[in-house]
Amino acid sequence: MPDLNTDIQYLKGVGEKRAALLRKKGIDSVGALLRFYPRAYLDWRAVCPVAECPFYENAVVKAKIITPVQEHFIRRGMVLYKFLAEDASGRFSVTLFNQKYLAQKLHTGSEYLFYGRVGGDFAMREMASPRIAEAGNNGIEPIYSATAGLPSSLIGKAVHNALALCPSLPEILPEEMRQRLQLCGVAQAVADIHFPKTPEALEAAKRRLVFEELFVLQTGLSFLKKRKRGTTGFAIRQNVLPAFEKSLSFTLTGAQKRVIGECLADMATDRPMNRLVQGDVGSGKTAVAAALCYISAKNGFQSAFMAPTEILAEQHFRTMQSLTEQSGIRCALLTGSMTRKQKNEVKAELSAGKIDVAVGTHALLSDDVEFRKLGLVITDEQHRFGVAQRGKLSSKGQNPHTLVMSATPIPRTLGLIIYGDLDISVIDEYPKGRQKIATYLVDSSYHERLYAYIKKFLNEGRQGYIVCPLVEENEALGIKSASEYYEELSSGAFAGYRLGLLHGKMPAKEKDAVMRRFAQGEVQLLIATTVIEVGIDVPNAVVMVIENAERFGLSQLHQLRGRIGRGQNASSCIMVSDAHSADTMARLQVIRSTNDGFRIADEDLKLRGPGDFLGNRQHGLPDMKIADLFADCEILHTAGLESERLLKEDPRLERPEHAALRNAVAELYRKLNQN
Ligand code: ADP
Ligand code: MG
Repeated sequence: MPDLNTDIQYLKGVGEKRAALLRKKGIDSVGALLRFYPRAYLDWRAVCPVAECPFYENAVVKAKIITPVQEHFIRRGMVLYKFLAEDASGRFSVTLFNQKYLAQKLHTGSEYLFYGRVGGDFAMREMASPRIAEAGNNGIEPIYSATAGLPSSLIGKAVHNALALCPSLPEILPEEMRQRLQLCGVAQAVADIHFPKTPEALEAAKRRLVFEELFVLQTGLSFLKKRKRGTTGFAIRQNVLPAFEKSLSFTLTGAQKRVIGECLADMATDRPMNRLVQGDVGSGKTAVAAALCYISAKNGFQSAFMAPTEILAEQHFRTMQSLTEQSGIRCALLTGSMTRKQKNEVKAELSAGKIDVAVGTHALLSDDVEFRKLGLVITDEQHRFGVAQRGKLSSKGQNPHTLVMSATPIPRTLGLIIYGDLDISVIDEYPKGRQKIATYLVDSSYHERLYAYIKKFLNEGRQGYIVCPLVEENEALGIKSASEYYEELSSGAFAGYRLGLLHGKMPAKEKDAVMRRFAQGEVQLLIATTVIEVGIDVPNAVVMVIENAERFGLSQLHQLRGRIGRGQNASSCIMVSDAHSADTMARLQVIRSTNDGFRIADEDLKLRGPGDFLGNRQHGLPDMKIADLFADCEILHTAGLESERLLKEDPRLERPEHAALRNAVAELYRKLNQN
């Protein structure tokens, strides 16, 4: 008699070959098979009249075969079987390929159920190789994600054989909670998710399993959050924020002050801060970071400020220097492209404690970088780094305070999950006097007018960007490459103007040089790829043209646009696209209609789904089996509350009735660590 832990190979109907295929899907035991849920369902009762079946979609029809089944020999090894069937609304034609056995079973004059993709036209709808069932079938069939050699029906049979073991599945959700929230038991849920008798049973099973998955996730993450972080010796004793504010050429916004206050409250204790600052592009995150570095230095400990690119690290370094040079705070830059000698100098000064603020790239992470008393670690554009990298920098100090900053406006519920182990502060206000960026969408016939428009700004002493999707010419037709476009414009439309080229494949030194010339106003118009997407801050740049805008994601367009509109001057962003598809238009209209990063992120998420949106597992979460972090956000919320409630009663999950939950959380950690 198999149990849940039995190797999948020994389940009836599986065997060695299929076991290998199942293992590829991560199914290695009978228990894992039970938790391999169908990807869709075929509800044989959802019958649609023939004449109303939408084209190119799957549909179930119930129809009587009205012609004999005709055999057509197409060529060797290919036989077609064709017949017509009809219901009260109309008739349609069915084609079967090589399915002799099935064809012979069908009776002209009898009624059957057909399920398949609807083709043909209004005169005659068609189905090719539909699934055919007895007219009396009123079941709901599971459809599993299949692979070659492992069709859905076969997985279904194996699951069927495993279902006898459902009663021994461990119940993760306490009885009392299930009663209160009206969630069915695990045995019932798993049985019904595979072979539901009614749509209601399927709904109930789904709700229970989604809840369970999110509940375990939330419980696991709150452990991470409450994990003992040890104590830190870097408590802030003197709040010297007023002195810092005096060195600024602007006054901090209310939101900046509030967020700095939240950080300082954390840092005033001997528990290390562990906080995320989220703020849309242009909300002024750098000033928050600078304030904290300044205050840390004045309290006698070092800070490290890490950025994802050299350009950005240099820019932060210059900002930091200009804000602190009057006050005797010593800053240094550390990036990969510096000479060995330069790096060694900085490293020596860091370990001797002669430098207060180190600004840099990944170079800060290398093993031979040592700090004397590292009390604060800040990571800019956190989503560009893995969780592990964040940890590595922190490990260079003794439980330093950590702050991560991100402009990727992850919707709030999702943010709470992804950054579940962090406290969150939000900068929800832009500096005063910011103007809304006027955004337009035009096609390439506007280029001449666009050039004239840009020149008008350049002639007034302003600067601008032209963004292209590619670095170099690609065979793909009609796509602008930065390098070629730069050549073309330099000698053509913009002859006599000072142009610059910036793309990711240039040597770091050249990039920095161009960027510096742009920041100083020497370069008037920068032709660039998306390297400028992250963090570049040149307030005098007020116009941006984005070529082939259809090739960018919504959040990316928003980040790009965030490079302008950073000062007091009205700014405009012109997206150029010749794409005409309704989808693309709808996407680009979102950018036109709002400047709200959160709304754009929401739309992006809806259009692309969370996997894509967050990028290749950047979030470090395990794949969800059944829950959809976005669509199920209401259940997510309830699961969070329930998890909090349960942990209040049993903070370490020590009670015997929570053993199954404890195991599920342990399993989750195993997966988190694999990512
Ligand atoms: P982001 O949040 O995108 O990193 P930055 O920190 O680069 O934004 O700030 C954007 C611009 O706004 C910079 O030019 C910065 O000097 C300016 N800035 C920041 N805070 C204020 C403020 N309180 N008042 C006016 N300008 C500000
Ligand atoms: Mg920034």
